[in-house]
Amino acid sequence: MPSDSTSADLLPRYGLFIDGEERPSLDDAWFSSDNPFDGKPWARIARGGAADVELAVQAAHRAHSEGAWPAMSATERGRCLMHLADLIVEHAARIAEIEMRDNGKLATEVTGQVRYTAEYYRYYGGLADKVESSVIPTDKKGVFAYTRYESKGVVAIITPWNSPLSLTTWKLAPALAAGCTVVIKPSEFTSASMIEFAKLFELAGFPRGVVNVVCGFGEEVGEPLVTHPLVSHIGFTGGDAAGRRIYELAAKQLKTVTLELGGKSPNIVFDDADLDQAVKGVVSGIFAASGQTCLAGSRLLVQRSIHDQLVERLVAFVADAVLGDPTHEGTQIGPIATPGQFRKILDYIEIAKAEGAVCALGGKSRPELGAGRFVEPTIFTHVRNDMRIAQEEVFGPVLVVMPFEDADDALRIANDTAYGLAAGVWTRDLHRTLYMVERLKAGTVWVNNYRATSFTSPFGGYKGSGVGRESGIQAIHEFVETKCVWISS
Ligand code: NAD
Repeated sequence: MPSDSTSADLLPRYGLFIDGEERPSLDDAWFSSDNPFDGKPWARIARGGAADVELAVQAAHRAHSEGAWPAMSATERGRCLMHLADLIVEHAARIAEIEMRDNGKLATEVTGQVRYTAEYYRYYGGLADKVESSVIPTDKKGVFAYTRYESKGVVAIITPWNSPLSLTTWKLAPALAAGCTVVIKPSEFTSASMIEFAKLFELAGFPRGVVNVVCGFGEEVGEPLVTHPLVSHIGFTGGDAAGRRIYELAAKQLKTVTLELGGKSPNIVFDDADLDQAVKGVVSGIFAASGQTCLAGSRLLVQRSIHDQLVERLVAFVADAVLGDPTHEGTQIGPIATPGQFRKILDYIEIAKAEGAVCALGGKSRPELGAGRFVEPTIFTHVRNDMRIAQEEVFGPVLVVMPFEDADDALRIANDTAYGLAAGVWTRDLHRTLYMVERLKAGTVWVNNYRATSFTSPFGGYKGSGVGRESGIQAIHEFVETKCVWISS
């Protein structure tokens, strides 16, 4: 939990953003946001509660039912989204700097990520007036039937700390294109960038109340938001426990959800793969953002004949990785975002050793760097797929390596997990590629690449990795109801 030190009166303050205005919470409570590199609080954040959620949902409900937003055509809504995209590019450096202070991501990585979010608003801005409904040929004579897509109304967006603006955008851009209004609850560890971002909406031409942000904690803000009777859909990205809790609460009120949860994704390297390419893909798949990504390729499956050679190459490639200050250009691995996450990663390293896995690289923290919240890139061999280190999401720079014999053996191991977010396959054989793609139980399969995502392409999980899809045309359909209209002549 972020600290709530009261000796921080001189720090910048970020309020809640409700009905077009930044303001303190109703009971004027605050908590601190800490910088993971130096461990020091750098901002004070308004700590919302149920009463603030009520104000925000009422503002979103008003904006959906009266005033300029419902009066706008889909084309006009699309233009607001396009304008917002331009403003994001203009303000990208500031937003990226805030996100880096909040979660310790590398400057290069977070700047590129924030700029890329603009493309989502452009894409959904263009799509807003192109989602066509249909006229339906029916068996009834003299009756004409057609469908209308109607926005679901007020939508809740609840996000984690690893990519704050980006993961909010995956839900927000299609929700706005569909005509919904929104209340966002950012992670308590990374709230500031969302408030900075919310200030752009009025400049982009959005009416007041269309987008609201209530900062605070899961039980204090998240649950009242999920259960509010005027909220019709919840778009959530985060951990399994919170995701299941939200699904239960939503089910009691028959609300719809999209849930983007955890992963334990297999990266499968066959003996005919281009190994130079595979090594780079495997390394960025697990060690980018210090492994704190849902789509991390955290289980490496290697065909037995090249197992030792590939492990050797990986260790050589990663051994000299530069850990340090995320603002420095040469840094390759930044700090772990939260104290809880740091402890969890170190605990999993101990669990792996106790289970009999062999540490081929790393395995330690680096107390001498910054505030000491660093974990070395770590590679474990001699891992069995039934070990906890092979089954549970670490969300850190920890890779486990397992050998396989042939395609069926690789599939057996790859699919033997509660998760199904993504998978990578490295081979030059087309027949084998198609065989694997068809049988992998994962929402995304990358072949001879890893980590590509885009506004154009659906993203989401099979099995325990989630419900529904984000991005692409399909995402808009998560935010509309379909009404069928019958007209007799
Ligand atoms: P988390 O589940 O602890 O928190 C996510 C958000 O949910 C936060 O805003 C939190 O305040 C809120 N929350 C917590 N309990 C809640 C409750 N009872 N009701 C309503 N809201 C509640 O996750 P985290 O630690 O912030 O993020 C890490 C997790 O996110 C990892 O498991 C990771 O795999 C997952 N993740 C998934 C994706 C994806 O697209 N599948 C992307 C990024 C992260």
